[in-house]
Amino acid sequence: MKLLVINAGSSSLKYQLYDMTDESVLAKGLVERIGMDSSILNHKATGKEEVTEVSEILEHTTAIRKVLDKLTDKEHGVLNSVEEIQAVGHRVVHGGEAFKGSALVTGDVKSEIRRLFDLAPLHNPPAILGINAAEKNMPGVPQVVAFDTAFHQTMDEKVYLYPIPKVLYKKHRVRRYGAHGTSHDYVSKVAAKYLNRPLEDLKIITCHIGNGASLTAVKDGKSMDTSMGLTPLEGLMMGTRSGDLDPAVVTFVMNKEELSISEVNSMLNKHSGLLAISGSSSDMRDITDGMAEGEPNSTLAFEMYEYRLRKYIGSYAAAMNGVDVIVFTAGVGENSVVVREKVCENLTYLGVEIDPELNKVRSGDPRRISTPNSKVEVLVIPTNEELMIARDTYRIVQENN
Ligand code: AMP
Repeated sequence: MKLLVINAGSSSLKYQLYDMTDESVLAKGLVERIGMDSSILNHKATGKEEVTEVSEILEHTTAIRKVLDKLTDKEHGVLNSVEEIQAVGHRVVHGGEAFKGSALVTGDVKSEIRRLFDLAPLHNPPAILGINAAEKNMPGVPQVVAFDTAFHQTMDEKVYLYPIPKVLYKKHRVRRYGAHGTSHDYVSKVAAKYLNRPLEDLKIITCHIGNGASLTAVKDGKSMDTSMGLTPLEGLMMGTRSGDLDPAVVTFVMNKEELSISEVNSMLNKHSGLLAISGSSSDMRDITDGMAEGEPNSTLAFEMYEYRLRKYIGSYAAAMNGVDVIVFTAGVGENSVVVREKVCENLTYLGVEIDPELNKVRSGDPRRISTPNSKVEVLVIPTNEELMIARDTYRIVQENN
């Protein structure tokens, strides 16, 4: 079965075409600047030359049509006709409490995703645009949605509730939902396979640290706790997001600076984190370069980031009463030797010991960076959310056949 995985943003659309007979990627690409004057389509079929095309793409339906044109193009394509695509899988950020796993798209499913617009105003609306656009371009082809929140639906009430008046949960479903679930789910499964141990026997802390960052305590293969909350703002210090702070900071700053709700939201989501403390960049590469040159603001930004990350690892070891495996993944986790080194340097009380040489090795494959003496296995595992979505799509389409 060939299937297309789509990750639609408000002005972008990422895609990967899979052949599920061997889970190979036949082609992938990205459409950017949808709705703006010159949209960019970047397409790469496996074994063929990459192609970039600039044209006017005003909405998602046209974006998908252009993608399908590329997939069936004589020179750059991999399909003889669009009919070869037998299913489409979509990434959706928020599944609320309704979705505990991926689901076949129906009218009811779409209505539920729309109902959740309030909880993910930036992310769920484009997902609906993507679904509708795929339906228009590929009528009758089954579509599946995979939610970033679904993996965390196993969290216990004592973990997901905030200690605030319960009426807010009853009326507005204010609670912790988490995010990056597809990634935490994927890397914890790969970790167990890599170690050749049953997932159900392991206490794993998965560190998905990219531009957005979250940690999950995975016990018995299930998410027991995760650092993101009602929205992806809670938890770790991130590229441009603050992560945890005293909630009173929000009202205090709004009052003193006369900020509106949208201004304070923008401050916490777009102008905080590494960017705010370094004063120059949200990118960990720039931060570690600055630190290597002795630049004080980058050094402080790094130290705060590492300290907060390490405290979360400690708290999840406490939550699970131990930890067998720590996994690093996503942009920073997979690539930053110095972040992994500094975090692990201060986890010796847990019995963590990493091998500095193994930590430096670069590879696209899962790998161990801990020493044989380490009481905790420390792994670097490249995440693959698209593959996870492709697998769910394949399974659900088969089940509904
Ligand atoms: P992601 O959101 O997973 O795509 O991660 C993006 C982030 O990964 C970037 O903003 C960088 O901060 C970080 N990153 C990518 N490559 C490196 C690297 N070689 N060293 C440190 N950080 C990196």
